[in-house]
Amino acid sequence: MKIAENSVATIDYTLKDDEDVVIDQSSDGNFAYLHNGQNIIPGLEAALLGKAAGDKVEVTVEPAQAYGEKDLAQIQRVPRDMFPAEADIQPGMQFQGESPDGQMSVVTVSDIDGDEVVVDGNHPLAGLTLHFDVSVVDVREASAEELEHGHVHGPGGHAH
Ligand code: ZN
Repeated sequence: MKIAENSVATIDYTLKDDEDVVIDQSSDGNFAYLHNGQNIIPGLEAALLGKAAGDKVEVTVEPAQAYGEKDLAQIQRVPRDMFPAEADIQPGMQFQGESPDGQMSVVTVSDIDGDEVVVDGNHPLAGLTLHFDVSVVDVREASAEELEHGHVHGPGGHAH
């Protein structure tokens, strides 16, 4: 069968950035998703519509169809003394933080500048053009329970 709305598709994929650096990958049928507009980025989901087991898909996804553009308002400078004195703050570290609109979110330390720390509340892949190399492993219909939960159960999905 072909991937359609409410299909469960198992895919092996390699995700690379513009510099050909592998950001993420899955193999051996370890990743499955429910095709309902909520589980994978829109640009990848659109490219997989209508594909069947055995198909290979190469797709480049612009930020708008992936994790969005970087929002400069999400990048803030905060005093170093807002962090525990004993903490060894390094670029790449992640903290639970509060965004300007009051939402709790994960921020990533992007730089340390004197007695200020630059933190970035954007998704780590925001602003990136993503290159996917996908093999469709399996396509099946979702169970009633999966449709109710909005995600895949069993191999490659939730185990709860
Ligand atoms: Zn569930």
